[in-house]
Amino acid sequence: MPFHLTEDQRALREDVREFAESEIRPRAIELDRNEEYPAEILAELGDRGWTGLTLPEEYGGRGEGLVELAVLTEELAAAMMTVAGALALNLGVATVIERFGTDAQKDEYLPEMATFDRVGALGLSEANAGSDKLAMETTAERDGDEWVLDGHKQWVTNFSHADFVLTYAKTGPDADAPHNVSAFLVPTDEFEVEEVWETLGARTVKSPRVVLSDVRVPAENLVGEEGEAYVQRGEIHTGVNVPARGVGIARAALEDAAAYTADREQFGQSVGDFQGVRWTVAEMAQRADAARLLTLRAADRADRGEDPTREMAMAKVRATEAAVENANDAMQLHGGKGYTTDHHVERYLRDARLLTVAGGPNELHRNSLADAVYAETE
Ligand SMILES: Cc1cc2nc3c(=O)[nH]c(=O)nc-3n(C[C@H](O)[C@H](O)[C@H](O)COP(=O)(O)OP(=O)(O)OC[C@H]3O[C@@H](n4cnc5c(N)ncnc54)[C@H](O)[C@@H]3O)c2cc1C
Repeated sequence: MPFHLTEDQRALREDVREFAESEIRPRAIELDRNEEYPAEILAELGDRGWTGLTLPEEYGGRGEGLVELAVLTEELAAAMMTVAGALALNLGVATVIERFGTDAQKDEYLPEMATFDRVGALGLSEANAGSDKLAMETTAERDGDEWVLDGHKQWVTNFSHADFVLTYAKTGPDADAPHNVSAFLVPTDEFEVEEVWETLGARTVKSPRVVLSDVRVPAENLVGEEGEAYVQRGEIHTGVNVPARGVGIARAALEDAAAYTADREQFGQSVGDFQGVRWTVAEMAQRADAARLLTLRAADRADRGEDPTREMAMAKVRATEAAVENANDAMQLHGGKGYTTDHHVERYLRDARLLTVAGGPNELHRNSLADAVYAETE
């Protein structure tokens, strides 16, 4: 069982780390303060081929797997979580098209999505369909060669900078659930923006509530089999980006805390020489490494075509909670300066706090994990 990355994976990590350290991290505090969308950074990631990392080469991607996606995501999130999120959401939408779309959809959408020149957002959640996605109320009805969509979507990350939303809607009766949900490619200009929330973190990439009123899309905008979109989502594992973002924040918080406490002197000595501080840093290091190992294991399992449900759930819970815990500890170890925007740690904490909810609250992932554990005893 290898515990090391391949030479190519290490090279990817080094390339992304160098870019993130030189091009993202120095701008992160200012972008966050101004709530400014990281457009140039994402365009540059597109030029470097990283936004299409896991898409097949025939569609302009790099044909890499989820381990590589986890590596890329950790490095980006260590510098700025929202950049990693915007990239991953587009890639997740592209993956649905690649796995379940028609050849015409793949030809039309994927090459531009791979370079982030055409951007997809995810429209799954609604006001009454958060954890319970099958409670969604948006409907799509067939009318000749078109589908007519009515309803709303909530928390559509990156909506304002996206070209279309992969929109999930009910196309069958509740009695057929979960085989009653279909997915459609709907241009963003067909939606009306109803609310853009002010949020604790993730301030540079907004996630508004948007409304669809009698929106017509051509029949060819249906992605995958009618009624099977919700079930088919379960076969896509790009969601590993959420724990990978947690790993990035957990690691960055550790590195910042170690550097700051090594440098800061009080009582005539480095703060990092107090044993209480050293034990906290040691705990943070364990959390970051455990989070990474669990995340890479889940990604590797999915890449090898084995069911990663148990491993993904474990990674999601542990890595996102490690991010919150490490960010919180890093803030404490920075003293009063940690509470200011002079340093990154207050942003780590605000951004990390999203990850235990986004991608499904950790309670749901604990449920999946417990189900898997009990299933093993049967
Ligand atoms: C900033 C942001 C960006 C997002 N981006 C997207 C996106 O791009 N596309 C998209 O479709 N969605 C997105 N989401 C939605 C996200 O997936 C949902 O917020 C999440 O699934 C939880 O739904 P909810 O917020 O309605 O919480 P609710 O379902 O109302 O749950 C509230 C709380 O109740 C508890 N809870 C719920 N169910 C259970 C249970 N079964 N057992 C125990 N406790 C439970 C949990 O503590 C949970 O946090 C985003 C959310 C946020 C905040």
